[in-house]
Amino acid sequence: MIGYLHYTKQSELESYSVCVIGAGAAGISLAIKLSRSGHSVLLIEGGDWQETPEVVDAYVGEATAPHPQTTEFRYQRFGGTTHLWGGRCVPLDKHDFEKREHVPASGWPAGAAEIADYYSQALDYCDAGENNFTITAFGPNAKPIFSEAPLLEPELNEYIERYSLPTDFGQKFRQELTDSKSVYVLLRTRCIALNTNTAGNIVTSVTLHDGNQALDVKVKQVVLAGGGIETTRLMLVSRQKIPAWSDLDNSLGKYYACHYDLIFGALRFSGERPVFDFQKTSEGIYARRKLQFSAAYQAEQGLLNSAFRLHFPAYADPAHGSGVMSTIFLAKSILKPEYQAILNHGVNQTAIRGQSFKHVMNVVMDISSVIGFAFNWLFKIKLAKRRIPYTLVANRNGTYPIEFNSEQVSDANNRIELLEEHDRFGMPRVSVHWKMTAQDIASGIKSFNLLKKQFEKSKACRLEFEPKELQKAMENALPVGGHHMGTTRMGTAPNDSVVDVNCKVHGVKNLYIASASVFTTNSHANPTLTIVALALRLADHLNQSVTTKE
Ligand SMILES: Cc1cc2nc3c(=O)[nH]c(=O)nc-3n(C[C@H](O)[C@H](O)[C@H](O)COP(=O)(O)OP(=O)(O)OC[C@H]3O[C@@H](n4cnc5c(N)ncnc54)[C@H](O)[C@@H]3O)c2cc1C
Repeated sequence: MIGYLHYTKQSELESYSVCVIGAGAAGISLAIKLSRSGHSVLLIEGGDWQETPEVVDAYVGEATAPHPQTTEFRYQRFGGTTHLWGGRCVPLDKHDFEKREHVPASGWPAGAAEIADYYSQALDYCDAGENNFTITAFGPNAKPIFSEAPLLEPELNEYIERYSLPTDFGQKFRQELTDSKSVYVLLRTRCIALNTNTAGNIVTSVTLHDGNQALDVKVKQVVLAGGGIETTRLMLVSRQKIPAWSDLDNSLGKYYACHYDLIFGALRFSGERPVFDFQKTSEGIYARRKLQFSAAYQAEQGLLNSAFRLHFPAYADPAHGSGVMSTIFLAKSILKPEYQAILNHGVNQTAIRGQSFKHVMNVVMDISSVIGFAFNWLFKIKLAKRRIPYTLVANRNGTYPIEFNSEQVSDANNRIELLEEHDRFGMPRVSVHWKMTAQDIASGIKSFNLLKKQFEKSKACRLEFEPKELQKAMENALPVGGHHMGTTRMGTAPNDSVVDVNCKVHGVKNLYIASASVFTTNSHANPTLTIVALALRLADHLNQSVTTKE
């Protein structure tokens, strides 16, 4: 069932076994799994079916550049940010969960690695196929990314990343939740505070607000699933009135991480061209190739975990000569700001200003490709249920820029704090502080130098870059928008973390967190697959402790 606060009886709201705050990827996955196991869930969502300007106000805050503004790269409506996501599904690697001597504050608590057991289910929720991230997913005879790639092993190995439809969780599960007798979804209702007993060890009620009225609703079990920033904000706001939570101050709001992203250098292939495009796996899922240093090599060289992908030339720079890319670039003003940011990524905007004429010439000179692309765009993107994730046009000269995604060191100075200013619900707004650490920069530089060395084993391919430019480029690497991790991190005790291995807040019997904010370390992997895996694992944990609704 789905409804609104003003016409719902308080006694009805208080009858549910689990109260979940936030109906994005995490909250919906959790509610669905719990309800399928016979439990009753109150699912509270601040947005409505669509995001409205009035709702956006709750996300207004501050962020230190180059971190995107707090209204960007997240979305408030039923289904949350999955309305916008690109659908790239990547699991954490085994060594991400381990204590690595060269990575400060690494090591998830014992038992956390079992999250990986939930990737198969999570892939199913994300419509991204089977739990196989090797090239065998393309079939037993799949060829490597280029014929000499096996020469680079075991230091450098090839994997794949899978793509979701991309699945909008709001759309996918709307009917099931509407028909459900055991889940009640409350739309356009924000949770603005958690209230506890005097000891602070039980959440007794949550304060809800629909813009007109505030209501304290008694709860049994509570799960915060409002996304990495909002979940942390709700914890920080509640902490202000709960002295017993002072133990959490060591970590709450601290250790904020995004992945960092850099497009730099280029692989030059002489003769044979590599596999560049999306390919379909045996089950029909779009996937792409990527390269990664092995865990052993990372440990030996003291590297953070990272991945390298072949990239397309900058759309904004007409020198690529592609009519398709110029068409997309010229059309970018009709795209959402999040996608504009992706197309402009890494390109000096001043340098490309006033180049529209050259883009138009590209379109004219390459019109047959543009017509072919228009056909593909209509049938493989616009009308297709499973869409090609994005447009890939290779450079004609056989060079491929490298896209580098890396883990960041978990650093307490990167953080989320409350501001003095309040939103229309009376909640303090947030300030996000993000920057690259010296270790992030050093690890990125070393990774590129070692990649270059690896490619010296190949005759057909060289990594080219200007060594003098690497340092500056790495210092200016950008945080990946929409990946908000670490600020309620998982650990063994309050001196190093906010939640335990079961995502339960330390010292509070009935409060859990389902979000990337619990990530102890952040890997190179996009977070959503792991967010969903964590939510499904939490559902199993709650399943054992929750009373089924009468
Ligand atoms: C352009 C873009 C591309 C992306 N591409 C990828 C990708 O390819 N792969 C990937 O893994 N990830 C990607 N992401 C990130 C992905 O969208 C997020 O990781 C994912 O949506 C997070 O899920 P969530 O449930 O934690 O939060 P969200 O999806 O943000 O959902 C949180 C929900 O909670 C609600 N809420 C928040 N606070 C409250 C409150 N106090 N009371 C009530 N409701 C509340 C919000 O309104 C929202 O609907 C991308 C993001 C963007 C913006």
